[in-house]
Amino acid sequence: MTQKLNLFNLNQNDLNEFFAKLGEKPFRTQQLMKWIYKDQVFDFEQMLNLSKKLRDTLSTVACLDFPAVVSKNHALDGVVKWVIAMGNDNHIEMVYIPEKDRGTLCISSQVGCALACTFCSTGYQGFNRNLSTAEIITQVLIANLHLKTTGKRISNVVFMGMGEPMLNEEAVYSACDLLLDDLAFGLSRRKVTISSSGVVPALLRMSERVPVSLAISLHAPTDELRDILVPINKKYPIKALMKACDVYLNAGQQERHILFEYVMLKGVNDTNEHAQQLAKLLKGVSAKVNLIPFNSFSQSDYQVSSAKTIEQFQNVLFSQGIRTMTRRTRGEEVAAACGQLAGTIKDKTRRADARRR
Ligand code: SAH
Ligand code: SF4
Repeated sequence: MTQKLNLFNLNQNDLNEFFAKLGEKPFRTQQLMKWIYKDQVFDFEQMLNLSKKLRDTLSTVACLDFPAVVSKNHALDGVVKWVIAMGNDNHIEMVYIPEKDRGTLCISSQVGCALACTFCSTGYQGFNRNLSTAEIITQVLIANLHLKTTGKRISNVVFMGMGEPMLNEEAVYSACDLLLDDLAFGLSRRKVTISSSGVVPALLRMSERVPVSLAISLHAPTDELRDILVPINKKYPIKALMKACDVYLNAGQQERHILFEYVMLKGVNDTNEHAQQLAKLLKGVSAKVNLIPFNSFSQSDYQVSSAKTIEQFQNVLFSQGIRTMTRRTRGEEVAAACGQLAGTIKDKTRRADARRR
């Protein structure tokens, strides 16, 4: 038996093609997307404005499958963390962070991550596989269904959970299409953010393909230090990365800026000199800097910079005219803070083993 097609994998264009192949008109796409994304009805039989024949066909050839939620934990500060099963004993994590004027959902794009940044818990777990568009987009639906009863909502979606979104381009782009599409989630381009550690060729493609916001995990102002913290820097050093940033900033119709993420590691990347070097690197770039206090996890020896050091670092950047903010750590008691998302990953890279030796 051939496998049923999970329609969560299809963006609007793909659905148009799908219905055309079934001999149906394009308006079926609108009808179906309304059922799924607006009315949150996932049973074809209940989609009564589709003909009986089409409903039967859909039930035979297609499905709307969700991954299973394994657990849901609430932190005292309102943060919610979900653990979601992705088959074969793999689990990914997703986090909702409520704030006064918005609600941010931090979603995962891969089961683990192969890039092995030395300060990142996900990196320590190794990598199993890419998530499909369906597995990405249903994270948003799962959170939406949960929030419906709480009066809270998702205003922003960030690819800052597990995985490197720019190593799973096609699935991430289709998911972005759906996040921006008025027939699906209808978020504005400023409210959807891809965070990347700097996969340069993919960033060049992304600049043209999806008009979403971009965050770059920089973490160090020199190649010497970045090679250690973010190993992919050895392949795509800072100069190439900044060129790709320039391409992104000049693509598209609207004015763009980039959020540069910088994890604050005590005695590693947090001195006055580092701040000066960072300011120099970002001079003239349409940038905002987000300083992230390092969140610890058991396998790591790094420590977080003191609040005073972070403030001094921030002041150096301010004095050079660089917009900077410090991210407040949220959801720590349920291990939902940045870089603490570990999931359970059947590592295929054997990196986790190598590290243990
Ligand atoms: N792979 C992508 C997106 C996921 S990581 C990327 O690297 O951008 C999301 C953010 O959390 C990144 O900026 C990452 O550097 C940061 N992060 C990772 N580990 C962290 C930790 N232990 N403490 C604080 N931030 C961390
Ligand atoms: Fe992967 Fe991002 Fe973690 Fe680096 S920081 S290991 S790229 S998830």
